Amino acid sequence: MKSFTYSGSPAHIVFGNGASSDVATWVEKLGCERALVLSTQHQAADGEALAKRLGALAVGVFPGAAMHTPVEVTEAALAKAKELGADCVVALGGGSTTGLGKAIAYRTDLPQIVIPTTYAGSEVTPILGQTENGAKTTVRDASILPEVVIYDPELTLGLPMAMSVTSGLNAMAHAAEALYAQDRNPVSTLMATEGLRALLDALPILVKEPRHLEARGDALYGAWLCGTVLGTVGMALHHKICHTLGGSFDMPHAETHAVMLPHTIGFNAGAVPDLLEPVARLFGGSPGGGLHDFARSVGAPLTLSELGLKQVDLDRAAEIATQNPYWNPRPFDRAAIRALLQDAWEGRRPQN
Ligand code: NAD
Repeated sequence: MKSFTYSGSPAHIVFGNGASSDVATWVEKLGCERALVLSTQHQAADGEALAKRLGALAVGVFPGAAMHTPVEVTEAALAKAKELGADCVVALGGGSTTGLGKAIAYRTDLPQIVIPTTYAGSEVTPILGQTENGAKTTVRDASILPEVVIYDPELTLGLPMAMSVTSGLNAMAHAAEALYAQDRNPVSTLMATEGLRALLDALPILVKEPRHLEARGDALYGAWLCGTVLGTVGMALHHKICHTLGGSFDMPHAETHAVMLPHTIGFNAGAVPDLLEPVARLFGGSPGGGLHDFARSVGAPLTLSELGLKQVDLDRAAEIATQNPYWNPRPFDRAAIRALLQDAWEGRRPQN
């Protein structure tokens, strides 16, 4: 048999409709009694409601989380945590809010409880991306992995449909790249395939019926599996290009993943069709073509141009994305990435 290494995550994962109402129990199980609740400005009312539910176990709310975890926001939140004597953080929201909780934990080792309301998957990874002076850097550390994650589908009923679709495709991107990761193992491949299946089944139902509770639960289940493989095996071309477009061109995170996914997977399918067979089987046709057809069917954005990227920026994007060498199943050069970006800018259906 093929040799492999497998490490399980030490986090507690809780799933259930209404499970977030048990958050106080989890604060106590962690041995904490002074939680700082985190949210974005947009979800401030939800953060306040959660703090109210925690009662004496909550010392305050910091509703300032922002995309790409700016260091100045982290410093303001740290000051508030110190001033209030917080002994844990409870992050309620998407990847941006989770990112703020992780940034605090990385600097203080405070325990984290995350209640995710998108499908980004950050809550189950020991990875923190943060921005300072316009540059995005990534760190990986055991202190960054949240201790408890509470998945409550009821909290995702109001996630706007456009965001549900792009966030779901963001999750699928983690799973698709996990299938050909150099350090993949049988368990990561199982999780990736099942995560893709769950989101493939759930998203078309949600497009028709956004408040379909069972499909919301399936989508979160898929997001958990896809996030878990992101946290355990290495990513390649797809994540590198999206990191470049987000970090250097301020492109929106989930939407960029959604547009790029068929193109990067189609590109790599030429080299590893056997490893991407689960994608071809689930989505029909070729891996890239099947993902393109699925994205179109659920109303996802299909072009980088509609996300606001200018065609004149494609040369520079190709240059930045190929500056530092990294592993990918199919070798590439700047010209190949430039061509791939052109296809994504125009939204062409991939051949492979
Ligand atoms: P987000 O957290 O920025 O959320 C987008 C907007 O939607 C916010 O205003 C948020 O408040 C709102 N929102 C979230 N859930 C909602 C709900 N249920 N109802 C209504 N509004 C809701 O978006 P995201 O795509 O989840 O996260 C993106 C960020 O996460 C990026 O910074 C990305 O780098 C990071 N990320 C990190 C990892 C990792 O492992 N480190 C993985 C994935 C994403």
